[in-house]
Amino acid sequence: MMFILLYQNILALNPRVKNHALMSSTASKKLEKKHWKRNPEKNCESCMKLENNFDDIKHTTLSERGALREAMRCLKCADAPCQKSCPTNLDVKSFITSIANKNYYGAAKAILSDNPLGLTCGMVCPTSDLCVGGCNLYASEEGPINIGGLQHFATEVFSKMGIPQVRNPDLPPPDQMPESFHSKIALIGCGPASISCASFLARLGYDNIAIFEKEKYIGGLSSSEIPQFRLPYEVVQWEIDLMRDLGVQIVCEKALGQDGMTLSSLKEDGYKAVFIGIGLPQANKHKIFEGLSVEMGFYTSKDFLPLVAKASKPGMCLCSSRLPQLHGTVIVLGAGDTAFDCATSALRCGAKRVFVVFRKGFTNMRAVPEEFELAKEEKCEFLPFLSPRAVIAKAGRVSAVEFCRTELTDAGEWVEDQDQTVRLKADYIISAFGSLLNDPKGSVSCLGSSG
Ligand SMILES: Cc1cc2nc3c(=O)[nH]c(=O)nc-3n(C[C@H](O)[C@H](O)[C@H](O)COP(=O)(O)OP(=O)(O)OC[C@H]3O[C@@H](n4cnc5c(N)ncnc54)[C@H](O)[C@@H]3O)c2cc1C
Ligand code: SF4
Repeated sequence: MMFILLYQNILALNPRVKNHALMSSTASKKLEKKHWKRNPEKNCESCMKLENNFDDIKHTTLSERGALREAMRCLKCADAPCQKSCPTNLDVKSFITSIANKNYYGAAKAILSDNPLGLTCGMVCPTSDLCVGGCNLYASEEGPINIGGLQHFATEVFSKMGIPQVRNPDLPPPDQMPESFHSKIALIGCGPASISCASFLARLGYDNIAIFEKEKYIGGLSSSEIPQFRLPYEVVQWEIDLMRDLGVQIVCEKALGQDGMTLSSLKEDGYKAVFIGIGLPQANKHKIFEGLSVEMGFYTSKDFLPLVAKASKPGMCLCSSRLPQLHGTVIVLGAGDTAFDCATSALRCGAKRVFVVFRKGFTNMRAVPEEFELAKEEKCEFLPFLSPRAVIAKAGRVSAVEFCRTELTDAGEWVEDQDQTVRLKADYIISAFGSLLNDPKGSVSCLGSSG
């Protein structure tokens, strides 16, 4: 009896039976859900406000609580496959352990010691192909550890601490270093390769290092092509400032091969070593695009992305620039990371529909899933198995692209079937692909009568 009374009391203290009905419409609940940033409206045309929106949209970004929870999940594996799959050989489990202990400084120190571009890589490294792809938790219900997100978190917290990089305290003072450490060293191009090389040289104690960059801006493709919403310019600037803390000089608008600057002239000027980090500046341009220009609505990725970057990355250069003004339908050719950056940037430049058209299938795509998923969420449309055959221009502008179907033969060779063609209307075309199917010289295997 006593027990029943007690039980009733507990129930009375905490009544759960409502004496009235409470009803909310699904629509009002959906509105409430949008209070949290991670739940944007997805299925309405008018609510996609991507135009001119270059805010960070990475899905891997972690809050402190998220980072701590993720770090706790790590198994700290012996013989960790994540580290073995990292091109910079980061000690992944050790920096994750530091995060789990709330030692964010220690985590960032470990990351930046192995990789001076630790924040950039935390933000844009194709981790699913590398460390994350190797994680032992891959087949678990919660999935692999979000290593890129953790690296991004720790280095970003560190970047806000405003701590400069200092000369290795274990080195003898500069005036007691061997003479060779004062030799003049030139690095050509101020992209990630030279920034990393110069940082490591300066950490070893070399103190006469100069980087020569042909552009007005620094950072290479990280500045000029990777869009602001994936890699903000401040990140590149911060890593370059860390390198400058060690005394590395940067000279802009000075190019190898121009204004008399050659390897011989550098040697005559007393440079003892030259590192060439000039990247791969030329875009591939297929012969069907000959004669087409930006004014006609045709861009290569190397025309388009730098224009977008200059207009959307404050502080990158003193060059005043305006976003390319697109409208209507944009066709992006290719299915690598560059193509997806072009597609998602085109939406931000005013395109209403973006078709990403590529010659192989989804399973042969070169882009990493994180890039593809982003483009899919932003409602880019995908057309596989199509190879461009001709561009149709009207009144001095591109108006359509003609494609033929491609197929994979039993022998594993990709061929074009010239009898199966399709024409797609286009207000703009952005070419973001490399060589043609099977043959880097431009010829392709053809099926059908007109091939
Ligand atoms: C659209 C796009 C998206 C990408 N996304 C990713 C990504 O998500 N993750 C990732 O890991 N990688 C990505 N990459 C690849 C990455 O950007 C490159 O691997 C990296 O920038 C190469 O660095 P680099 O220093 O060798 O060359 P670059 O970045 O090309 O830098 C070379 C520098 O040399 C300068 N230069 C050229 N010629 C001369 C000269 N004659 N004299 C002086 N200076 C010169 C150039 O102006 C430039 O600043 C992407 C690339 C592109 C194009
Ligand atoms: S493989 Fe995965 S679980 Fe193991 S140490 Fe690396 S990140 Fe942690």
